[in-house]
Order: sequence, then C-alpha cells, then structure tokens
Amino acid sequence: MWRATALTLFPEMFPGPLGHSLAGKALKEGVWSLAAVDIRRFAKDRHGTVDDAPFGGGAGMVMKPDVLSAAIEAVAEPGVPKILLSPRGAPFSQARGRELAARPGVLLVCGRFEGVDERVIEAHALEEISVGDFVLSGGEIAAMTVMDCCVRLLPGVMGEPASASEESFEDGLLEYPHYTRPAIWSGPDGTERRVPEVLVSGHHGKVAEWRMRQREEITRRRRPDLWARRRNATRNEEK
Ligand code: SAH
Repeated sequence: MWRATALTLFPEMFPGPLGHSLAGKALKEGVWSLAAVDIRRFAKDRHGTVDDAPFGGGAGMVMKPDVLSAAIEAVAEPGVPKILLSPRGAPFSQARGRELAARPGVLLVCGRFEGVDERVIEAHALEEISVGDFVLSGGEIAAMTVMDCCVRLLPGVMGEPASASEESFEDGLLEYPHYTRPAIWSGPDGTERRVPEVLVSGHHGKVAEWRMRQREEITRRRRPDLWARRRNATRNEEK
C-alpha cells in the first residue's frame, strides 16, 4: 500500500477532493492510505503555538523549527521521501510524480503563513517542490496535487493501463483533442460541428497518425518550451 502522510495545521482539509472518484475509490480499496497529522499536536506550550515573528523583521509569521521538526521526526519513515511544498521548490512534473509513486509513499509538509524556518529544511534535508509559479495560501492544495498525480499512477487505479502512457507530458507532448457522440453537434451559435472525418473512418493506423500530428502541432504552438526539449531529445537519440 502506497502511504501518503501530510503534516498540516488543517488536517480536516484531507482527504477533501481525494476522497472522491478515482483517488477516493483507491483509498477505500486500500491501494493507498492517507494520514493527515496535525502539526499543532507537537507544540511545546499549552497555547499550541506553532509560529513566531521572523528574525530580521518583516511581514507575517514563520513556522517554528522546534515544533515542525518534532512533527517530522514523529512521522518520518525510512525510504519515504520528505517533501516540503514551497513556491521556491523544483517545479513538480509527471516524471517526478512517477518516481514518487514508485516509492513506498511520501511525507508532505504543508507550509502556512510566510513559510517555515530554513533550518528545518536543512536539518531534515527536505526536498522542496513547487506546483507552479504562483503563491497559494498554504501547502495543502499543493500536497493534494502531488498525491493525486501519484495515486492515479499506482497499479490498478486507472482503468486502462494504456491511458496513462498516451497522456500529456508522458512523452513530452500534450494530448490530442477528444471527441464523443454525437458525431454532428450544433453549438450555441447554431454552427454545425463535425467530428474530424478520420476518427470515424475505422482506420486505426490513420487515427494514430492524425492524433500524433495533432499532439505535435498543439505542443509546438502552446508550449514552445516542451517542444524545444523534445526536439533536443530526439536529436540526441539520432546521434
Ligand atoms: N512567503 C512565501 C509564500 C508562502 S505561502 C514566498 O514568498 O515564497 C504559504 C505556504 O503555501 C508555503 O509555505 C507553501 O507550503 C505553500 N505554497 C504556496 N505556493 C506554493 C506553490 N506554488 N507550490 C507549493 N506550495 C506552495
């Protein structure tokens, strides 16, 4: 069983969306487990203090190193990566999600306020992961994002194993467009919209070729960064 542990000041936020649909079903079936542990339980005083003013001044509060460190020590397990959700971290990716899904589980530390005391990051060698170049008010949604990505990659969670390998990012390309019935649909402006002819042709080879061309075209236009990386990778393979 893949084990996710979240250290948070808001354990009641979990499992939240992860209690539903694909991830929720897998949780109920015991494919993975989730423990949301309240950092406040490790506070040293009777007020349950978890934060304090920053040395050097400035706005906001900082999560105390003694409290957070005690919490990490209490739940850390050998072989389980210790991650701090942080806008300063390495950008999260499908590739990192795949790696984490192959481990026994993850420990995800959710920051709040201005963040955590730097010494905790050093002392526990926390890996900092960001879910994007924007600032959230806490690490919980970011932690759920990482968990969700990992869980759907666990064996048996997704219906068809093939559906994972053809998805966006798995091979550096975005996904092709999807269509379902009806084959002809009139949108709100009354314009008749038809499904691309090739998809109803029944010719699997042509469908695959069309989809690959769509993926390349969409990636090239929308994500020049991914496109450039893929071109470099293919070039290196040819060498
Ligand atoms: N002062 C910080 C922002 C703190 S936001 C800064 O300027 O970088 C509070 C907490 O939310 C962070 O400690 C982190 O755990 C979480 N968080 C915010 N944005 C995030 C992001 N893009 N990715 C991952 N975690 C994030």
